[in-house]
Amino acid sequence: MPAHAVEVRQIRLWASPGDTRVVIDLSGRATHDLFLLRDPDRVVMDLPDARMGSGARTVPPGAGIVRGVRYAERSGGTLRVVLDLRAAATAKSFLSPPNEHYGYRLVVDLGDRPAHFAPATVIHAPPRARDVVIAVDPGHGGEDPGATGVYGTHEKNVVLAIGRDLAADIDARRGMRAYMTRDGDYFVPLRERMRKARAHDADLFVSIHADSSHDRDVAGASVYILSLRGASDEAARLLAERENASDLIGGVSLEDKTPVLASVLLDLSQSASMTASEQAAQDVLRSLGRVETVHYDRVQQARFVVLKSPDVPSMLVETNYISDPREELKLRTPAKQMQIARAILAGVRRYFYSNPPPGTRIAQIVAARARDALVAAGAARAAGAARPGAAHAVADAPRR
Ligand SMILES: [Zn+2]
Repeated sequence: MPAHAVEVRQIRLWASPGDTRVVIDLSGRATHDLFLLRDPDRVVMDLPDARMGSGARTVPPGAGIVRGVRYAERSGGTLRVVLDLRAAATAKSFLSPPNEHYGYRLVVDLGDRPAHFAPATVIHAPPRARDVVIAVDPGHGGEDPGATGVYGTHEKNVVLAIGRDLAADIDARRGMRAYMTRDGDYFVPLRERMRKARAHDADLFVSIHADSSHDRDVAGASVYILSLRGASDEAARLLAERENASDLIGGVSLEDKTPVLASVLLDLSQSASMTASEQAAQDVLRSLGRVETVHYDRVQQARFVVLKSPDVPSMLVETNYISDPREELKLRTPAKQMQIARAILAGVRRYFYSNPPPGTRIAQIVAARARDALVAAGAARAAGAARPGAAHAVADAPRR
């Protein structure tokens, strides 16, 4: 075996609904061949001039669609890694370059769905008032831990807990429904988060993060929206850079990248949802200010990739600084996580009750309240004028 053989340092599996990601950590750059085989379903990867490092000889248990992992060092120095599958899958692989967290990684994405998967036929029914849909987007996940505090708390875990609380609170409310872009410890590329939210007809996109700073005394919550021009200040620009680096850390293959031109076109159609984003962000910032100190008392702007939906009002909430050890300890507690979730929900509700999307149950509730207020006012007037017929005249008025 050649002395310069690349070593496999670790094999990691991340299962998300519909997809399983296998990450093979390598000591250096490597080439590979990948084959999908049937009967039984399996993925075979051959890495020339590679071997299993001493730390990787115990392979991880299966997860998601992967039933098990095995390997063999073949003559000629080729390492063969086999993923035994529970069912047929689609496979996509790419080599991800080193970043501040990891070295070279061979990433294999397995899709549970067959390639010819087609969405179910839409059955047209008479229109019925629908729920408002809020996409809850816990930042980072899987191999991208986000910021890490001095006590070892990962941002990805804190924001998932807050996101789950928020989604549960939303689902408990009349006329509202949550959709989570990530509901487990796995990585989702930034544009995929937007795409998922739009595919679920989200009326609002709320990305949840926990900020970090080299200065451990910096604390407080902030709320951001997309900027079409520059960032509101240098700190906002640096934050956007850190959050946008998620794709590099999580390992996004080149084919996932949207061309520059497409990005520019998106920017142009974006301004319509900007006003809505700003209103919603202000409502959330105001209600967060009741439970948290606020780092910026105005909504901040920067070029966050995850907020680039052209037609879904979007915001990014930095709940607090995980780099402040006191805040880190608080952010770990379920009580604090729930308190933050409640505050975000209060802001989101205020926004939708003052800007109800047409055709939603909330729009009906708002209209009904307005009618009731009108009736009450009419009744009061009628009582004042001692004209018993007046209240009826208002109550029987046409509804639209
Ligand atoms: Zn983050």
